[in-house]
Amino acid sequence: MERGMVYLVGAGPGDAELISLKGKRALQQAEVVIFDRLINPFLLTYAKEDAKLIYCGKQPCRHTLRQEDIQKEILIHARKGKTVVRLKGGDPAVFGRVGEEAELLAEHHIPYEIVPGITAGIAATAYAGVPLTHRVHSDSFAVVTGHGSKKSGTPEINWQALSKGVKTIVFYMGIKHLKTIAAELMSRGKVSETPVLVVQWGTYSKQRTIEGTLANIARKVAQAGVTNPAIIVVGEVVALRSKLAWYDNRRLSGRSILIPGPEKKHLKLIDQVKQQGADVFAFPLLTERATADRHQLAGLLGSNKPRELVFLSAESVQLCLQAFGEHKLDFRHVHSPIYAVDPSVRQTLRSVGIQAELLEDSRLELPVFIGKEAEVESMRHQYERPAEELILTKQQVSQKNIEAFQRLIREQHVNALLITSRVEAMQLLTFLTLSGIEAEICNGLQLICKGKDVKLLLESQKIAVQSLIEGDELAGLLDIFDIEERVVMEG
Ligand code: SAH
Repeated sequence: MERGMVYLVGAGPGDAELISLKGKRALQQAEVVIFDRLINPFLLTYAKEDAKLIYCGKQPCRHTLRQEDIQKEILIHARKGKTVVRLKGGDPAVFGRVGEEAELLAEHHIPYEIVPGITAGIAATAYAGVPLTHRVHSDSFAVVTGHGSKKSGTPEINWQALSKGVKTIVFYMGIKHLKTIAAELMSRGKVSETPVLVVQWGTYSKQRTIEGTLANIARKVAQAGVTNPAIIVVGEVVALRSKLAWYDNRRLSGRSILIPGPEKKHLKLIDQVKQQGADVFAFPLLTERATADRHQLAGLLGSNKPRELVFLSAESVQLCLQAFGEHKLDFRHVHSPIYAVDPSVRQTLRSVGIQAELLEDSRLELPVFIGKEAEVESMRHQYERPAEELILTKQQVSQKNIEAFQRLIREQHVNALLITSRVEAMQLLTFLTLSGIEAEICNGLQLICKGKDVKLLLESQKIAVQSLIEGDELAGLLDIFDIEERVVMEG
């Protein structure tokens, strides 16, 4: 029997950048990922194309996989020799049952590693502007479960010791019992004016905080309708928030945008939008497998046909030359004129010693559009005269992208979809078709397009577009969201 490897990984509290490098690497190597409800679904996009993803999130009142079943699942895959990542919210050893899982692996002599994560109590307080310790206000903190093991769930805690012995107390899973928690602390010596902070969905853009005192926090939280996941922080340090709040008061706080395209293409925008407090999740929905066939490539050689080769992206230049090489063909025997769809593609062609003209300046006899599947498809919609095509890649969907896309939207981590090019619009449409996800999934989202042509393309496929950006992307987004805010405030 082969022995696999199991990584018990802390995913961090929410903000996807708070996973450790080690955790991310384990995720990138995993063949099987068993993940919890409280992880940011975007992290799943780091997994391999063909990784098997198993959801075992427990929802209150609806247990999807019981702890024994989760453990069985880990064991089954590890025994097949697989690399397994068990991905848990926050830190796996803070109310994460990593003890039980590691014990089982030890008993079965399966090698494992525990990769710590940033626990919600530390991260959510930091993002709320509350330091857990402070030279003046707090020389100790405790993390405590607010949910007991009895059927009623009432916490079983040494209240006396906790009230007297610890300056800052962070309760997990305590919202349901907040009234009891506050009452117990007050009856054992914490003054009723002790500041209390509740942080829901900490470190996400949708982070929400409620401030109060032991005397009134339960009423305030009930009024605001705050539910789990939330932590409760009790102690003088909470008062520092009024000075130190830095995260949840930005211009785009509460906004979260999904961009169905590669992160590296949108780096600048992602950075800018994040700095304004929004969450941005960018990943290509489809993956591409090189497909160019030899016969078609060989057909490009010689010059007995009046035609022009049009490269549709920088990547397609690389892919095409690579395909020539792999099929032992020589690009020097291509005698047709070469065109680039835009200046950056022309630049790429130049960098490999190929001189090209720009498509826009030209009337073509019979273009051969050379590109990845979505690029060629997008051109097909646009170009109205006869043309030939050389498709260099075939698009595929993977389980990880389906999980990530659906969960980000269904679990309300996203409230807007931003589409900045026709190619990304095509990819979204193809992704929905290939994965069988109904287009209605986009209904609750604000769909924002850059460029009228992108809007028209989506609308022709019956996808409603709410907002249009025509110039700079960041300025456009700020405009759209500011206008909305004003309407809400004036209304
Ligand atoms: N292992 C996790 C905790 C799991 S217990 C960790 O280390 O963070 C689940 C509880 O964690 C929730 O009920 C809530 O109290 C807290 N929690 C998890 N994520 C949170 C978040 N983003 N914001 C606030 N509380 C969170």
